[in-house]
Amino acid sequence: MRVRSISTALAGAAALTLALTACGGGGGDENTITIGVKYDQPGLGLEEGGGKPVGFDVDVASYIAQELGYTEDQIEWTESASANRETFLQQNTVDMIVATYSITDERRDVVDFAGPYYVATQDILVQSGTDDISTAEDLEGKGLCSASGSRSAYTITDTLEIGAELRETQNYSECLQLLTDGQIDAVTTDNTILAGYAAQQPGEFELLGLDLQEERYGVGLPKGSTERCEEINAAITKMYEDGTAEEYLDKHFGDADFEYSTEQPEFDDCA
Ligand code: GLU
Repeated sequence: MRVRSISTALAGAAALTLALTACGGGGGDENTITIGVKYDQPGLGLEEGGGKPVGFDVDVASYIAQELGYTEDQIEWTESASANRETFLQQNTVDMIVATYSITDERRDVVDFAGPYYVATQDILVQSGTDDISTAEDLEGKGLCSASGSRSAYTITDTLEIGAELRETQNYSECLQLLTDGQIDAVTTDNTILAGYAAQQPGEFELLGLDLQEERYGVGLPKGSTERCEEINAAITKMYEDGTAEEYLDKHFGDADFEYSTEQPEFDDCA
């Protein structure tokens, strides 16, 4: 009788442990972490044929996942375009998003953010030799592309009130194609993203080097992730203190045409 009650208690404890572990995952099972990254952005998140995507965001995400206790094999990568980042977090399609995801008050209404782990700035990209666009004001009446779900275009049209002809695409690669084809005049988004594309085709494109707005990259989390946010901030601090952040920045942006800071950004509160 006594033996039986102990084994019943053990079975109960095992079931509880299983249930608790199962709570951890969003998209995958309890032993994996599902991370949303970009798949079409050279230098940040680029997937070129079935394997693991590569880039600064991917390396940062891997580092964080490892600090959270996951091995490389336990990471499941998922493509998150700008337009589906909030939805993916709200629907638990992913556990976290590391995808040039700027922290904004509007997004904070529906998701949580750890970090920022990097601060980019918004800039404008044109075809080399374009002589009639050198400031944001020059975009008045010009064809301007950005990805839907990003806030970059609205900095130009709403914040700066410049009457550009807006073209929104699914992702930035499509903007680059439209620019190459002469169907639009300029692309606007973060300097990290634009510099990545420019570095892919040297001589073709030019960044104007305008610091239009700070883009503080956070790690997107489902609402109510205060504890995980604190853990991720500790991981980001370690990544800067042990020199890994600088190593990743040099590796991915070393050849790109923009200045990057290797200083750790100041965190927001997690709550
Ligand atoms: N970082 C900006 C944003 O989150 C623009 C780049 C992007 O779309 O990812 O809106």
